[in-house]
Amino acid sequence: MIAQIMNSIDKDKKELIKFTQKLVQTPSTNPYLPNESWKINEPIERQVAESIYDKLKEFGFSPKFVSALSNRPNVICKLKRRGKPTLIFNGHMDTVVANEKNWKFNPFSGKIVGNRLFGRGAYDMKVSLACMVFALKAIADLDFPGNVIFTAVVDEEPGACSEIGTKYLLKKGLKVDACIVGEPKTKIIIGQKGGYRFKLIVKGKAVHTGSSKWEKRTKGVNAITKAAKVALSLEKLKIRGKTSPPMFRGMKTVITPTIIRGGSAINIVPDECELFVDVRLMPGVTKRKIKGEIQKLVKKLNARIEELLFVPSAFTNPSEKIVEILKKNAEFILKRKVEIGVTGGWSDAHFFIKRGVPTICGFGPDGENLHAPNEFVYINSMIQVAKIYAITAYEFCGGTL
Ligand SMILES: [Zn+2]
Repeated sequence: MIAQIMNSIDKDKKELIKFTQKLVQTPSTNPYLPNESWKINEPIERQVAESIYDKLKEFGFSPKFVSALSNRPNVICKLKRRGKPTLIFNGHMDTVVANEKNWKFNPFSGKIVGNRLFGRGAYDMKVSLACMVFALKAIADLDFPGNVIFTAVVDEEPGACSEIGTKYLLKKGLKVDACIVGEPKTKIIIGQKGGYRFKLIVKGKAVHTGSSKWEKRTKGVNAITKAAKVALSLEKLKIRGKTSPPMFRGMKTVITPTIIRGGSAINIVPDECELFVDVRLMPGVTKRKIKGEIQKLVKKLNARIEELLFVPSAFTNPSEKIVEILKKNAEFILKRKVEIGVTGGWSDAHFFIKRGVPTICGFGPDGENLHAPNEFVYINSMIQVAKIYAITAYEFCGGTL
């Protein structure tokens, strides 16, 4: 049976490459902030969704659009049988901005050079969506009792906390027993740090820098230096949560001020400064805990905190069936040991894990330059991962190898 699945992917190899190219050639840049992106009804991912929908139709499936906003459709496609269990594949259709100047090729060309397919989203993660579609096709006619559901979702890139993508599908009543999120590379990610992001608005008082009142500090407050002091203390702040799973050993909650903006003229004491801060949360650090610690630190300042997002840390036990089956099949196809690990970046996986679904937070083809110029995916890895997805789905859903 394994040979049959592998043959099917090998036969479709050219078509799989072409389809990945097509998805890359269809821009789906999502430049918005997490607190606004899910309210924006622009057709950011719509053409990608339509291409995926059409391909699934062409393969004889009955895909559906499920949308919270009319221009931002998710695609869902069920390979339904009578029995159990149900495995879900999940991937996002949007990409980060391309910054076109620094690319060797047009980021939407899908250009192939040797074993590399270049383009924004080639690696993160249009290739994984394409692999999932062809994996579905490879097992469609095989006999197994379980169900496979493929979901291509909108609005992940701003912070994997959207109301209109994965979370919306789950709210609509998706019931599953395990999930694979196809985030990049052939390492099995079973846990991820959480995140807390906020903007700090620090107020000062404007006054001429040459005035004697400022010289004597009887008038004026410098918002930039105030914010800078906060930035330094934030970086040093130690946050301790409850105990973490052993896989997180050696890791910690990291607070990084990442953007600072303030001032209006070179000879005026700045009266306002904005500081953006990114926090990577260890398991056990709750929203209440991190908020409390930050508030304690900024309490004495004339400052306001604007929350941008909170995503909890998430973890799947390595002894879960989906982890074991994926690892076994990945090692079989890749002919080497495949690592299991956790990461400081997060994906939509936490939505599933929060609902008790054992979830692979990331496993997809290998490439380089994620979120950077000259992003590319390795073509041979694409073929291998399509096979791994297909065999894993078949075996997890009760097929006999
Ligand atoms: Zn991604």
